[in-house]
Amino acid sequence: MSSRPDVAIVGGGVMGASLARAFARAGHAVHWWTAELGDAASGVPVALLNPYRGRSGRAHPDDLAALRVTWRWAEELRVAGLPPGAHRSGVLRLADGARQARAFAQVPGLRPLAADALPPPFRSPHGGAWAADGGWIDPRAWLGALAADAATHAATRQRHRVAAIERADAGRWRLTGDGGERSLHDHILLATGAAAWPRPWVRSLGDAPAFERLAGDVFATRLPAPSVPLAGASYVGPVVDERGLAAAAIGGHHRTPGPAPDDTARRLVANLSWAWPALEEARMRTDAAWWGVRAHGEGNRPQLREVAPGAWWVGALAGRGFVVAAAVAEAAVSAVAAR
Ligand SMILES: Cc1cc2nc3c(=O)[nH]c(=O)nc-3n(C[C@H](O)[C@H](O)[C@H](O)COP(=O)(O)OP(=O)(O)OC[C@H]3O[C@@H](n4cnc5c(N)ncnc54)[C@H](O)[C@@H]3O)c2cc1C
Repeated sequence: MSSRPDVAIVGGGVMGASLARAFARAGHAVHWWTAELGDAASGVPVALLNPYRGRSGRAHPDDLAALRVTWRWAEELRVAGLPPGAHRSGVLRLADGARQARAFAQVPGLRPLAADALPPPFRSPHGGAWAADGGWIDPRAWLGALAADAATHAATRQRHRVAAIERADAGRWRLTGDGGERSLHDHILLATGAAAWPRPWVRSLGDAPAFERLAGDVFATRLPAPSVPLAGASYVGPVVDERGLAAAAIGGHHRTPGPAPDDTARRLVANLSWAWPALEEARMRTDAAWWGVRAHGEGNRPQLREVAPGAWWVGALAGRGFVVAAAVAEAAVSAVAAR
């Protein structure tokens, strides 16, 4: 039997799945509460792995370090025979003006590209920049591989939502599912994304840490996927269908949560067609429209917070959850070990 504290993990997104894998591999007894995998933000049709963000293209050092952890996990999963759906293709940024091209040229890790050196189908009169350490993930494959690896290392999956959380004897935590199931743990890790904090949790844990909820949209097109993904406020990436074929998806937008306004696809096309003219004529696969809500926390950085003794909130991964979740999960294992 393990001498490490046993843990419950709540949430079936990339954060919950990464925690389940990291804690199970570290030898903890893991009870993972998730009704479904990828039912919220982590169900995004394609996740770019791009730490070079914003207008400047600068990368936060923690995101660069986190991306290295993600690539390490991808390799470990591959070696374990669990196809991770992670592709180290590099990522393209396009400059929308001479000033941005100059800014990109100052960023370590970005290689400037002249206008005539841009990979097709993309174009920009100002050129762009290439991030060789970036890439993209097929979220369904990644979550499936994490869940399978967690199960191999004896994580137990409880296919229910958590309705109640209470302090039990000896400082342990009791979780009760929406079907009445119960479990008892030394530590609990709540990776509930942008979901509202259920009211009954407030009694034991207090209010949820503050975060902002921002929605975004992704549309699958009928165009074949470009060989490299395009990152930026509006982006292009491959989305893999049931037959394993990759079509191009376009995404972006920051807006209040709720279904996308009717003109969303048209606005995304307008944002991107200067860089990829064929989009103007492309039809969208309206059956494959997707929207999700991401959580942005303090300083727009991922949060790992002990909200009550032995109860951790892990989230606020913003628009780079697939870049950072593996590293945040490893940090959580160290934080629990240090208590
Ligand atoms: C449009 C859009 C595009 C994006 N593009 C990218 C990208 O290109 N690259 C990238 O890295 N990231 C991207 N992101 C961000 C990424 O999707 C998120 O950062 C990430 O999915 C958050 O993961 P999470 O596990 O914290 O939350 P979620 O995926 O939201 O998961 C939360 C989980 O908690 C569960 N839950 C909630 N309450 C309970 C309860 N009471 N009991 C049990 N379970 C509960 C939910 O059911 C869900 O399974 C994008 C997001 C959006 C919206």
